[in-house]
Amino acid sequence: MSKPILGIIGGGQLGSMLAIAANKLEIKTIIFCDDVDAPAQNFSNGFVHGQYNDLTKIKEFVNQVDIITYEFENIPYATLNEINKIKPVLPKPSVNRIIQHRLAEKDFINNLNIRTTQYVSIEKKSEIDSVKDLLPGLLKTVTLGYDGKGQYPITKLSNLETFDIDYSKGYILEKLVKLKKEISIVVTRFGPQQYSIYEPIENVHEDQILINSIIPAKITDKIFNQSKIWSTQIAEELKYIGTLCVEFFIDRNENLYVNEIAPRVHNSGHLTINAYNISQFENHIRAVCKLEQVPLKKLSNARMTNIIGEQIINFRNKEYSENEFFFDYLKKEIKDKRKMGHLTTLIS
Ligand code: AMP
Repeated sequence: MSKPILGIIGGGQLGSMLAIAANKLEIKTIIFCDDVDAPAQNFSNGFVHGQYNDLTKIKEFVNQVDIITYEFENIPYATLNEINKIKPVLPKPSVNRIIQHRLAEKDFINNLNIRTTQYVSIEKKSEIDSVKDLLPGLLKTVTLGYDGKGQYPITKLSNLETFDIDYSKGYILEKLVKLKKEISIVVTRFGPQQYSIYEPIENVHEDQILINSIIPAKITDKIFNQSKIWSTQIAEELKYIGTLCVEFFIDRNENLYVNEIAPRVHNSGHLTINAYNISQFENHIRAVCKLEQVPLKKLSNARMTNIIGEQIINFRNKEYSENEFFFDYLKKEIKDKRKMGHLTTLIS
């Protein structure tokens, strides 16, 4: 059977690393992105520029490929659904419909008897009065929030006056967890009960942005095992094909909570490029293109550091030792808080 041509929606660093992994497997890729400067076009075989709701441009892209996947979860569900009528979209669009919406996502996880933070839906300001026991908390938009965007810390009700919140967007109020640690699990599902699962990764955030990811995570055996069981349970329930990431909180009493699910390759999994025989990106391509599943082998412990904004200038001029791997995302514009690259260091 000849190899399929893979379409990737989204052309940022995740799209780039997916395209690089596909190149290694001799799979051709075409990128579709709304940014004309999308860095992933540096590594793909073709590029289509268009808006994510422009069905004419989308069709031009779909005509060139056999299978479609995506690098971020906020593509309109209607778009993915339309594409799926013509060519297979993996992971399937119904996964995205759940995960794009924080409330649907949390309800889904709780229905599996998996712990999340306590939360309620908030549609108008007065509703917060009746759920004071969830304070201190975070008010989050139900859609389109990431890296702390669209999130408001609420310690007491009077805090609400200091923010200009458009309640018509739909929010959830989430109780603040007294965090001891954050970890994530990256897992690739190839089919029923067929997984490649990476060990838990410890994540350190600053200002709600991921700064460091480290393996091994310093966690108890119980949390090590529980986080893996819950992640595979989630992937199985979604009938997921490809790589996904489950982000967890651990509180000061060693309780584990699922924070959120990313239906895609994930920033915390970048260290898998150098620390494992098969990276999260390669596994994603293997799963969606129905290639062989190769047993995972860990090669080294590792630490990944995100390079944010202007920090990239120094990193571009540095020399690196044999155990250091610098990735420049080749973004044209340096912006405050923008992820510009990362450095993975293999450690003993
Ligand atoms: P999110 O975009 O929801 O993943 O939030 C980004 C980061 O904010 C998380 O990785 C945590 O560091 C922090 N955070 C979000 N929700 C909570 C919560 N309920 N309790 C404590 N910290 C939180």
